[in-house]
Amino acid sequence: MNIGAPRQPSPETRVGITPEIAERYLDDGHRVQVEHGAGEAAGLPDEAFREAGCEMVGSAWEADAVVTVGPPGEAELSRMAPGAWLLGLLSPLDEPHAMRALAGAKVTAIAFETLPRTTRAQSMDALSSQATLAGYEMVLEAASRLPRIFPMMVTAAGTIRPATVVVLGCGVAGLQAIATARRLGAVVRGYDVRASAGEQVRSLGASFIDLDVTQQDSAASGGYARPLSEGDGSRLLEGLEPHLATADVVITAAAIPGRPAPTLISAEAVAGMQPGSVIVDGAAERGGNCVLTVPDEVVRVGGVTVVGPTGLEARPAADASRTFARNAYELFSYLDDPATAGADDEIRAGVTITRGGDVVHPDVLARLEATP
Ligand code: NAD
Repeated sequence: MNIGAPRQPSPETRVGITPEIAERYLDDGHRVQVEHGAGEAAGLPDEAFREAGCEMVGSAWEADAVVTVGPPGEAELSRMAPGAWLLGLLSPLDEPHAMRALAGAKVTAIAFETLPRTTRAQSMDALSSQATLAGYEMVLEAASRLPRIFPMMVTAAGTIRPATVVVLGCGVAGLQAIATARRLGAVVRGYDVRASAGEQVRSLGASFIDLDVTQQDSAASGGYARPLSEGDGSRLLEGLEPHLATADVVITAAAIPGRPAPTLISAEAVAGMQPGSVIVDGAAERGGNCVLTVPDEVVRVGGVTVVGPTGLEARPAADASRTFARNAYELFSYLDDPATAGADDEIRAGVTITRGGDVVHPDVLARLEATP
């Protein structure tokens, strides 16, 4: 196959194929076409792709399989050939109507967002690889805004106590935020509505905030959390308040796929926090876990700084591209292998959003029905 990596429009900094991964596609007998400048923002010059054996082109959208990071615009989609594969972060659940456009162009849309979170699919899991980087970046963002340091320091001028960091939502990003804050020497507490997160939080040397609002993991929800009832939601807000009041940093990364982010921090809770403390809301793109969050803006309320940076995972563009490209290669190779195509192939069924001119994914179809 002819595999293409387009240059992503700004502000995206990542690229879907790196020179290292291009070599793997080439070893497997494919051709790789990379758009001029596609890797520039990730520190990957055209020369590096050329040396790896890629063909540099003016547009990579005409390839048999296009590895993109974000969804294509109308103009890009119009260049794709019917039957071509489009692999990427396509937001199928958040943008179901855009999936209709992909079906209209008769491309086979393959989305990472609906990949089953199973052990078998781990090497293809771009949501996890990118969330890990976002979790790390959230801590750096907090550390750079906090008027204190994270570790304890014993100096001739006195002892500095370690910062207290509270992490809400301990999925992939939250757990990496905990690990990063611990490495910097902070005292860390974590909370997640999924009871099973407790053990993971403790294994990273943090303590788990035990509130009586918990959910058991259920296969039906694919390991994801479910929305809370109104009553549980308000009990959670109240239960978290005393923990927020003693925190120097609060990092939030709570989400429910395809839904707005759950509210975990009220305006009253922010008013009760210490002056100088910092909230980094990692759910800003989905409405925020804190009611005061404004995406990509710095809000200051009574001495508390609330930030909701978006696109955090793309900040370390080189590592984000490296891991994303590897995930895409693993997924592509899996789908390209006829031996994996069977009736019980949950990975193929999970990621295929459109095929042969139709939207075929049941969850996307359900969303289209709900919002015609
Ligand atoms: P996510 O981004 O959808 O959500 C982040 C976290 O927010 C989750 O841990 C969720 O429980 C939590 N959350 C939701 N509502 C909340 C609330 N009201 N209060 C507090 N926390 C709340 O999740 P994710 O990071 O993508 O991970 C989803 C699940 O998949 C997890 O169980 C994770 O361990 C699992 N997972 C498994 C694999 C694998 O086995 N291959 C890989 C990655 C993730």
